[in-house]
Amino acid sequence: MEINLVSDTVTRPSHEMLQQMFRAKVGDDVYKQDPTVIELEETVANLFGMEEALFFPSGTMANQTAIKLHTQPGEELICDKWAHVYNYEGGGAAFNSGASCKLVDGNRGMMTAAQVTEAINPPDFYHSPLSSLVCIENTTNKGGGACYELQTLHDIKEVCNQNNLKYHLDGARLWNALVAKKQHPTQFGQLFDTISVCLSKGLGAPVGSVLLGSHGTIKRALRVRKMLGGGMRQAGYLAAAGLYALQNNVGRLEEDHRRAKELAAILQQQPYVDTVEPVETNILIFSLKPQYNEAAFVEKLKQKSIFISSLGKGKLRIVTHLDYKEVMHQYVLEAFSKMV
Ligand SMILES: *Cc1c(COP(=O)(O)O)cnc(C)c1O
Repeated sequence: MEINLVSDTVTRPSHEMLQQMFRAKVGDDVYKQDPTVIELEETVANLFGMEEALFFPSGTMANQTAIKLHTQPGEELICDKWAHVYNYEGGGAAFNSGASCKLVDGNRGMMTAAQVTEAINPPDFYHSPLSSLVCIENTTNKGGGACYELQTLHDIKEVCNQNNLKYHLDGARLWNALVAKKQHPTQFGQLFDTISVCLSKGLGAPVGSVLLGSHGTIKRALRVRKMLGGGMRQAGYLAAAGLYALQNNVGRLEEDHRRAKELAAILQQQPYVDTVEPVETNILIFSLKPQYNEAAFVEKLKQKSIFISSLGKGKLRIVTHLDYKEVMHQYVLEAFSKMV
């Protein structure tokens, strides 16, 4: 039994999900003729109370499309220093959009309205790049699954309105935030110009993300997706997995959160552990006391068939997910309490 806690992207489609994929009605989605893709797009748009949605092969492409839509070459987007759009999209903001990133020194990947305000370049000061977009990440990936308060997001929205900035949400793990904070998707739909959500993280679909926005925005997004090579043909087989995930795998994220919290509680008591960051959702970041070597620790866990990742700088990361079952959880809890 291999227990992979490296990421919530390691899940494999369940038998039931595969059955739904097999049965999908498909067509050529580049001609907008795939009924299952259309159903998924309508379902997600309705869920968020946004006008339209577009299916993407990856969250990265959905975010990159949003950045392309909201910026012109030479302009700047504002994001936290740990943001996925800055750190983990291969420099795509620069490559695809010619945009630079103004990095904010936030808390666990989250910015405040005051920090965003401070990051804006004065629009008349032509020496610096024109600020045109704010990118929020919720939950934060590198920030350990932290969730924004809605009030903060409203405050930042106000700053965007006052300063003529577009507002994008990288909601790769927004589902986790919705469940953890008992929020409703429409509360986010009202706030943002565009939202990207992943189906292939905690929801357990093999592939797929969705970008949400107004009619006009998504019409333009269709062209950008085509340019990026993201138009897919009989993608309904993949969309079917996404629909299955939305119908069956959202509420259960609660279990992932509970297990991550239980792991944190056990780790907190161990003599080899230095700090455990607060756990709000399915990501747990902790560090070892200086006398313990983190690579050796990861290796030792590997020998027990437990896989976790090292983030560097003494930090280790665990991510719980759909394929991390209760028996595995009990085994891991016990393994942690017996490590020296
Ligand atoms: C995973 C992730 C994405 C998108 O990743 P893909 O692997 O391209 O689907 C975007 N933002 C965050 C915060 C993520 O964790």
